[in-house]
Formats: sequence, structure tokens, C-alpha cells
Amino acid sequence: MKIPKGGATEGRERLRHFVEGRARDYAATRNDLDGTVSGLSPWIRYGALMASEVRDAVVARMGKESAAKFVSELGWRDYWHRVYVEVGERIWEDLRPSATGNPASLYSEELPPDVMAGRTGLRCMDSFVAELVASGTMHNHARMWFASWVVHWLRIKWQAGAKFFLAHLLDADIASNNLSWQWVAGTFSSKPYIFNRQNLDRFSKGRFCSGCHFRENCPFEGTYEELEARLFPRLVRRLEHP
Ligand SMILES: Cc1cc2nc3c(=O)[nH]c(=O)nc-3n(C[C@H](O)[C@H](O)[C@H](O)COP(=O)(O)OP(=O)(O)OC[C@H]3O[C@@H](n4cnc5c(N)ncnc54)[C@H](O)[C@@H]3O)c2cc1C
Repeated sequence: MKIPKGGATEGRERLRHFVEGRARDYAATRNDLDGTVSGLSPWIRYGALMASEVRDAVVARMGKESAAKFVSELGWRDYWHRVYVEVGERIWEDLRPSATGNPASLYSEELPPDVMAGRTGLRCMDSFVAELVASGTMHNHARMWFASWVVHWLRIKWQAGAKFFLAHLLDADIASNNLSWQWVAGTFSSKPYIFNRQNLDRFSKGRFCSGCHFRENCPFEGTYEELEARLFPRLVRRLEHP
């Protein structure tokens, strides 16, 4: 893996490049895989950049209103860290009963070898893993899709996925990582996070689906209602017949 230069000088140079460059596109394009994001998380993670310094530089350049989305994302980081201070080692346990309605016994403990090797045949997920392993990075939206696939489609405990991320991410941070996995899993949110093929195709600009081996048999195909009924049958039954 090629590790970028660390340290405050490098971090500040990258921050300057972001604020003087395309920071204004952030709110509108941050969910697109090829959209504008800062890429600053490893420097923030290791304290080479203080989150407050990053916030102040972006607000000074763009003004409070235009910088609001970016500042709110930094706010998530701050929030996850405050929760970590509260829960300590319990960050490895489900913080709430799962919002999926599924019993814990349905979920496996380990990530299968083909998932970790990026050899499942699903072009999107395999590409995310290849990028993660080669560069230590993964776009936020890809992290959400991958985590959702692992927990809700493959029915693997979120802890297995969280450990896999912590082993590879350059910005690996137990608070942001574990609590984001719990948010996706529905053990620290009121609703499990899922997506469908159209959503992934839209934000990846069709980059994966066209040549995918599973194009005609995609596990993510369907409306959100159909996918929820398939993935969380007990929850859907409970909502229909309270
Ligand atoms: C399953 C999963 C695991 C994650 N694991 C980590 C992790 O180990 N370390 C980590 O720093 N972030 C983690 N995140 C949050 C987020 O994906 C990264 O912070 C972001 O992708 C970093 O890229 P960036 O610096 O270009 O972010 P930008 O979008 O440019 O955001 C600026 C900064 O705000 C903070 N930030 C942005 N989004 C989030 C978020 N959703 N939660 C918390 N902080 C955020 C980061 O410090 C980031 O550098 C995870 C998200 C998910 C869904």
C-alpha cells in the first residue's frame, strides 16, 4: 500500500488545496463516488489537523451557510467520539436491540474469505474492497453500501466488518468506524440502513452495474419496500400487524 505523507505540513497543504479548490461543490456532490470530498480524514484522525482548524478554514473561505454541510459532517465525528467516551469498551457491543427485528442467531461471526479478497463476483463490492486494500481508502457512500451488504444481505455481525475496516483504513478510528457500522446495522439508529441497485448505480454513474456478472440477478435489485420485506420479514410483519 502506498501511504501518503503524514504530518501537519502535509495536512495543511491538503486543507489549503481543498478550500481554494472545489470545496464549494462539497454539499452537492459528496455522495457521488467521483464527487468532491476533502480526503482529510487520515490527518484529522492522527491529530495532524485539528477538526476545529479544518472547520475554521472552510467557514472562513465559504461562509457559514455554504460550509454548513461540511461542518455537520465534522459534527458527526465529534458526536461519535463523545458517544465513545460514554460507552467505552461497550462500543464493541450492540448499543441497542437491533432495529431489524431479526434475531442475533441469524448472523455469522466472520467475514467469508471471498468478501475479504474482493472475489465475490459483485463488481461494486469487489471494487470497494480492492480500493480499500490497495490504498486504505473507501468513499463514505461505498462504506455505507458495503456495510449494509455485509450486515443485511450476508447476515454477518457488524463487528466482523468493523474489524476488517479497522485493519485497512488509513483513517481507522474506532469511534467513527464502530458507531457508523452500528448505525447501518440498526443497533444505534431507529432504522437499519439499506440501499438498492438504482441508488448505487446513480451515485456511481453506472460504473459497476453494466459489466457485472450478477447484472441479471443482482441482490440489490428491487424497491425499498421489496428489499425490506426480504431482509427484515419480522419487522415488516410487525409494522403491518402491530
Ligand atoms: C461503515 C463506516 C465506517 C467508517 N469508518 C470511519 C473511520 O474509521 N474513520 C473515520 O474518520 N471515518 C469513518 N467513517 C466516516 C466517513 O466515511 C469518513 O470520515 C470519510 O469518508 C472520510 O473522507 P473525507 O476525509 O474525504 O471526508 P469529508 O466528507 O471530506 O468530511 C470531512 C471530515 O469530516 C469527518 N466526517 C465526514 N463524514 C463523517 C461521518 N459520516 N462520520 C464521522 N466523521 C465524518 C471526517 O473527519 C472527514 O475527514 C465511516 C463511515 C462508515 C459508513
